[in-house]
Amino acid sequence: MKITFKTVPIDELFNKADGDIEETIEEFGLDETSNPLLLEIFKEMASAINKQFDGIEVAPFENEFLAAARRVDYPFSPDKEVEVQIVLYSNAEVASFFGNWGSQNKPLGFHASSSGWELLRGDEVHDNSAHQVFICTDDAPLHQAIEEMIETRKGNYDRSIIRRDCTNFLITLTHEVCHAIEFIEHGAGLTPQECREVADDAEIPYVSVYHGAREDGTGREGSIPLSDLDNSDEEEWEDLNTEILEDRIEEKGVMMFCDLVDANPRLKALIEQLTDEKALKFMPPVGSGRKPSSMSL
Ligand SMILES: [Zn+2]
Repeated sequence: MKITFKTVPIDELFNKADGDIEETIEEFGLDETSNPLLLEIFKEMASAINKQFDGIEVAPFENEFLAAARRVDYPFSPDKEVEVQIVLYSNAEVASFFGNWGSQNKPLGFHASSSGWELLRGDEVHDNSAHQVFICTDDAPLHQAIEEMIETRKGNYDRSIIRRDCTNFLITLTHEVCHAIEFIEHGAGLTPQECREVADDAEIPYVSVYHGAREDGTGREGSIPLSDLDNSDEEEWEDLNTEILEDRIEEKGVMMFCDLVDANPRLKALIEQLTDEKALKFMPPVGSGRKPSSMSL
């Protein structure tokens, strides 16, 4: 299967929304809080993935899910092209339609296994009929991260630290893209909604194409069988497998980001530009800290 990536401003999804909720959604569009440079970088990253890898080629995992899909004759084609939409939005509140993030801050990005829009209507959660990754283009979280870093280091920071913060922020995109890629590998390229249909037809639990592990602990290498836990605590199992998943995805996301930057001078230049923009905002210009007397020497 070949995976290609396409950026979609959240406003374009309005067309698919009901009239009733269109107004509600409108306020979550790409408004002035978006940083134009961040937008440009995310678009460049998506096109760089397509260019550099000519899309991403993956094979579906020969797992229990695939066996189930074959058993119920679910139509899928291992040769097809799968599109992942990278949906750009600027209001962090958008995330609240896609999941309950508890007391955590709203994420800067997420792989949307639910469609979200149904939640707006107060319905139950519906599985997504598309492969979608959402990414927040609001400038505020990046500012906050830099400000926190400056406070932590008690003012002892430099441009390279600001660049690192910008980079960590941008890696959110490749991290979420890697979640989507794994979902496609584990779920034979089917969308979350189609995966649910297979699970229902084949009477297997739909837990976790997402985690790459099943309730019974079978699944991809690295996941921990539920039976291996002394007290068979399912919540603990879920937490442990999530931790394994997140570590794996983080590593993949960082590697993909480094590959993209290494091979794309334009992307590298844009990131330098973002770093300069932030350095200019947060670092005092050279010489400004000097006393007038030393200036006059
Ligand atoms: Zn993650």
